[in-house]
Amino acid sequence: MSLFDNHFAAKNAAQSRAWAMDDEKQKKEKSREPAPPKMGICDKCHREALVRSYRSRQTDRTEGAASFGVVTKYYCEECAPKSRRERDAEVPQLSNKQVKNLMRSAKKGLL
Ligand SMILES: [Zn+2]
Repeated sequence: MSLFDNHFAAKNAAQSRAWAMDDEKQKKEKSREPAPPKMGICDKCHREALVRSYRSRQTDRTEGAASFGVVTKYYCEECAPKSRRERDAEVPQLSNKQVKNLMRSAKKGLL
C-alpha cells in the first residue's frame, strides 16, 4: 500500500460524497416547488375538488433493512397538511430546524 494509493482513495471518496450532497440539494430544491392545483378527488374526504399533490417520504424498516419510498397523495385545500399550506404561503425559506438538519447531515458527510 503506497502513500499515493491512500491519497487517491481518499480523494475519490471525498468526490463521491460531494456528488451525493449535490444530489440531495437538487432533490430538496425540486420538492420545494409548489405543485399547481388541479381537479381531482381528494384522498381524504373523497370529494371532487381542486387538489394538490403531496409527496411524503416513507421509511419502512423491516428485518434491519431500511427501504425508502415516496408516496403521492392528493388533498383538497381543506384537507391539505397544515405545515405544507403554511410553507406555500410563505416565501421558501429554511427554518432554524431545517438549517440544523442540513448542518447535521453535512457534518455526517464529512466524518
Ligand atoms: Zn379533502
